[in-house]
Amino acid sequence: MGRMKKGEEAKEPSVPLAWFPDGKRITKPAYNRQLVCATLFREGPESRVGLHHRTGIPLSRLSEICGELLRAGLIRESVIAPAVGSGRGRPQTLLEIELRGLGVAGVCYGGDHMIAAVADLVGTVRWQRRWDGPFGDGAERLLRKISEAARLAVDAATKDGVQVVAVGAADPGTVDVTSGRAVRAVNVPGWQNVPVVDRLSKATNLPAVIERGDGWQALGEVAFGAGRGAGHAVFVTLLEGIGGGIVENGRLLAGRDGSAGEIGHTRVSEDGPLCGCGGRGCLEAHLAPARLTALWKGRPADRVQQAALRGKDIGDDFAKMLQAARENDPRAREVLADAATALARGLGNTISLLNPERIILGGEFVEAGDLLLEPLKQALPRYALREMLQGLQIRLAELGESSSFLGVAAHVRDRLFAYPSVGARFEEGASPLQSEVAS
Ligand SMILES: [Zn+2]
Repeated sequence: MGRMKKGEEAKEPSVPLAWFPDGKRITKPAYNRQLVCATLFREGPESRVGLHHRTGIPLSRLSEICGELLRAGLIRESVIAPAVGSGRGRPQTLLEIELRGLGVAGVCYGGDHMIAAVADLVGTVRWQRRWDGPFGDGAERLLRKISEAARLAVDAATKDGVQVVAVGAADPGTVDVTSGRAVRAVNVPGWQNVPVVDRLSKATNLPAVIERGDGWQALGEVAFGAGRGAGHAVFVTLLEGIGGGIVENGRLLAGRDGSAGEIGHTRVSEDGPLCGCGGRGCLEAHLAPARLTALWKGRPADRVQQAALRGKDIGDDFAKMLQAARENDPRAREVLADAATALARGLGNTISLLNPERIILGGEFVEAGDLLLEPLKQALPRYALREMLQGLQIRLAELGESSSFLGVAAHVRDRLFAYPSVGARFEEGASPLQSEVAS
């Protein structure tokens, strides 16, 4: 991987926008640039005069701001011919956000593989590369790999004409989004309290964000995949580890430190199988593919339990069980129906608690398709309020492994083009609404 040359590190970020302005001091010009960008993104293309009416910024100042934003490649101009018979003789020049020319770099990592990608803000993955591990011992090694992968993605974006505005880390464990640290990942030895955001930001000279991989996937599916158009959605990954994310009006519900959505460790039975977290009867333990295949093969109870805890190395057994179920093997169907019932318990409680309009199921388990969905839909009325089930859509995820990177793009787009907060503090003290906009 290419290393960054000396001297490049000191370069100023090229994006003249207030990044994550909450609570930060921003200048009056920055406030107005943010207002113009947010208006163009959320209200659609607009002329300079139209922007003046929408924002109250004087036309002369707007021309300056738009010039800056055009030069920075954040917006572009398009000329619209006058409508026939509209009475307007002149073509109109509209301004719009340059979403295809802006993008994010994302790195998705775990103990055994790493994927880096570039996604533009329209929602297209423009570049992707994968490395297979292991990446050596210790957090420092992995952190270095992640930083190099991020730099490589930024370089690839530049070659493709995409201006990267932020870098996102998709972590396999729990994270603290406020301090930008990876807290702990059960499957990655030594990965504890790691300052991922700080390192990524220094390595790329760009703003960086961290989120649980499941959280990014949830955001990606809702913005660009099976959750499109849903204001209230719950995403659940079903594979060896079960995770999820709750998306409300385009934003991920964080909880206290970013861990909200760990549906895998909600308890669905009192005396169920032991879980890797130390608890008993977690949804994740009930649905562990290794446990299900051990049950299908009629293994004794203690072997079934060991399989649930061991988790991985099931080889093709799970696929074989699905195939057997498709061919009407009664034991395979029974095992899947029991798994669907456990899932219905977990989802039923989630539905009654959160009242979502859509549930999106992702992860390898969804290869079961109707073998899982049909018994799930049959069982759900026993575990959720009937009125909450009416109109609720349950869909399979559409984006596969792209969802993490598109989730970063969705999050960054939402924050980058947020309306500046009324409570923003200004470096020069005075409110821009008095001294600049209304002058
Ligand atoms: Zn658990």
